[in-house]
Amino acid sequence: MEDRNVQRQHVLVTGIVQGVGFRPFVYHTAEKLGLFGWVRNDAGGVQIEVEGPPDSVAEFIRRLRTEAPPLSRVDEITLSSCPVQGSETFQIRHSDNLAARTALLSPDMATCPDCRRELMASNDRRFGYPFINCTNCGPRYSIIKDIPYDRPYTTMAEFVMCPDCRQEFDHPGDRRFHAQPNACAVCGPRYQLLDRQGRIIPGSDADVFAAARRLIADGAVIAIKGIGGFHLACDAYNGQAVQKLRERKTREDKPFAVLCGSVDAVRKHCVMKASEQEVLTSKERPIVLLAKGPDYSLAQSIAPGNPFVGVMLPYAPPHWLLLKPEDIWVMTSGNTSDEPIAYEDQDALERLAGIADAFLVHNRVIHRPVDDSVVRLFRDEIYPLRRSRGYVPAPVSLAVSYPPVLACGGELKNAFCLTRGRQAFMSSHIGDLENMSTYQTYTDTIEHFQRLFAVRPEIAAYDLHPDYLATRYAQSLSIEKIGVQHHHAHIASVLAEHGINRQVIGVALDGTGFGTDGHLWGGEFMLADCRDFTRVGHCRYLPLPGGAKAIKEPWRLAATMLYHLYGREFLTWDIPFVHSLPPEWELVVQASAKGINSPLSSSAGRLFDLAAALTGIRGSIHYEGQAAVELELAALRSADPGKILPYDIQTADMLLLDFAPVFAAMAFGLRRKAAPELLAASFQRTMAAAVADMVRRIALQSGLREVALSGGVFQNGTLLAELFTILEKSNFTVYIHRQVPPNDGGLALGQAVIAGERSR
Ligand code: ZN
Ligand code: ZN
Ligand code: FE
Repeated sequence: MEDRNVQRQHVLVTGIVQGVGFRPFVYHTAEKLGLFGWVRNDAGGVQIEVEGPPDSVAEFIRRLRTEAPPLSRVDEITLSSCPVQGSETFQIRHSDNLAARTALLSPDMATCPDCRRELMASNDRRFGYPFINCTNCGPRYSIIKDIPYDRPYTTMAEFVMCPDCRQEFDHPGDRRFHAQPNACAVCGPRYQLLDRQGRIIPGSDADVFAAARRLIADGAVIAIKGIGGFHLACDAYNGQAVQKLRERKTREDKPFAVLCGSVDAVRKHCVMKASEQEVLTSKERPIVLLAKGPDYSLAQSIAPGNPFVGVMLPYAPPHWLLLKPEDIWVMTSGNTSDEPIAYEDQDALERLAGIADAFLVHNRVIHRPVDDSVVRLFRDEIYPLRRSRGYVPAPVSLAVSYPPVLACGGELKNAFCLTRGRQAFMSSHIGDLENMSTYQTYTDTIEHFQRLFAVRPEIAAYDLHPDYLATRYAQSLSIEKIGVQHHHAHIASVLAEHGINRQVIGVALDGTGFGTDGHLWGGEFMLADCRDFTRVGHCRYLPLPGGAKAIKEPWRLAATMLYHLYGREFLTWDIPFVHSLPPEWELVVQASAKGINSPLSSSAGRLFDLAAALTGIRGSIHYEGQAAVELELAALRSADPGKILPYDIQTADMLLLDFAPVFAAMAFGLRRKAAPELLAASFQRTMAAAVADMVRRIALQSGLREVALSGGVFQNGTLLAELFTILEKSNFTVYIHRQVPPNDGGLALGQAVIAGERSR
């Protein structure tokens, strides 16, 4: 029965295509087009055989891309023809076991529009049910304990589906077919409102969300268990409540993010471009940094002195049940200052007891904690600052395949990276590896990733800093180990994202990282590819008087600089910095002159700190990078764009960028009563101009025309924009981060590719 008008194609689809409703989608598409054959999951992705008229088959293949389900990501479609078999049905076949071992797991995704409609529809059986989800949305990564991604291996295992849910789950035509977290009010998890002692608040059971809303309206702080952990929430219009939260959380100045009930609520307070709205409403729903608008009227203490505020929109069902469209709540991670986010009920009740007045908890276990992601938009595209919920564990695609590498990451804002073939799985934001509980999360998550992706690393990549806990962890492993210089890793991270492995000019402006000469680097210019680097320039070394203390107390840097330039003469100046000098300044300066406990650093971040201290903007800090952040904010307040101050570039065996003349010019300005905001603006413009000058000189020597920018200093949007523009005008091709953060949260990606390249 050979029919020339019928053909049969074998189709292999790879990408995130399992556990996201791909097979039912294939089934429905085939049915609509009147095609026969089968679909199943297997090791490589989704396998399909499809038979019918060539036009329909071609249309079918086109729709695999254009109409793929929202949570899926189609990477490749491979076709081969096979003999016509005369099939008369289309079947969803069972998967083989290997399938699960190489499947890509979906991140936790925001509630889809269909589920949102049902959540709000009083005639729907899931009306007001806070765990509503379907194959297109809901929790994934945070509830998966093991592979394969099937309900028994998730924290939904303990909830037995009622007959209604079971029917949806089993029926290929249903939009909850194989939706592993499927549940309803009859059979699924539920919320409770507890007081600080963990007792149910009397009368709250009838409607926990209404009860929680009333508490918030009365000015309370509530701990809310959500998808990836606990949030601390309060009314963003209530200055007293926000202040109370700030005091209890011992978080003095760091901005809080807010959850807005609707896009309209965002627009009321913020300037929002179309591209920003698109990211805010995306299925990943990160926190997006937006500029405050002219009518901004939220509590000042949310983001004090800051022209930006971190905003997100509801992404989990309880958010819609808690917030009215016009409501805006502070939603900050459920932790005290530097600890990891709380995600277990008992732990939250203990750790957050002094912060929250009440606890909105549920009985679905969060297996892995995952913080909210944070992005800003640069030239209408995502520029990540923290990559977690919504993005993890989707892999970054690499240009080439390596043996499995575990890249252990850095010390602050740690995230690690595990590779499998051409996939680089970046972990969620782990945090600062300074206390035991963070370290525990770190090692647990590493083990979890190895299980989820069924991969045993053969190589461990580590930072050269001997004291990083991540480095010590790598050293404890009995596999091959490859040490990677911190700033080379930053640059390789950008290159890896863009699939580039040729030599470029790398500019890493950073806080601190261990250098190969034993000094602390952080203002680095290099010729680098994904394997090697040559340092060709850096910011001139400055002493850090008191070591780590100089980072916490930038006034030490400024005092040392002024003493170096002017001796004791500067003490006679009538400027705020001199008036606020603590008495121990002289000891500090003397120690650094003698080289006592004063490590040398080429860090660009420290230059920002020094400028902030000198101008009186910030002499000592409460959180990492605070002085540099406040310098940027001060510059943004300046109506005058500032001017380029004199800097110096010396040519020794490498180019040395010397900012001493810049600080001399700033000191001169201060004595003539120039506004600190203006000097801050001038400092930043000078930084951009000087870095571009360095790049031009390196380009002349090397002939390279491509530049990669990375390092924590590039979280500064003003500097990034200014430098990008200058380099572009000078006809350079500029590569910046688009998938992982420029700070140490993106470090492990670079470590992974460097180790991979060196192992080849
Ligand atoms: Zn849904
Ligand atoms: Zn049910
Ligand atoms: Fe760094």
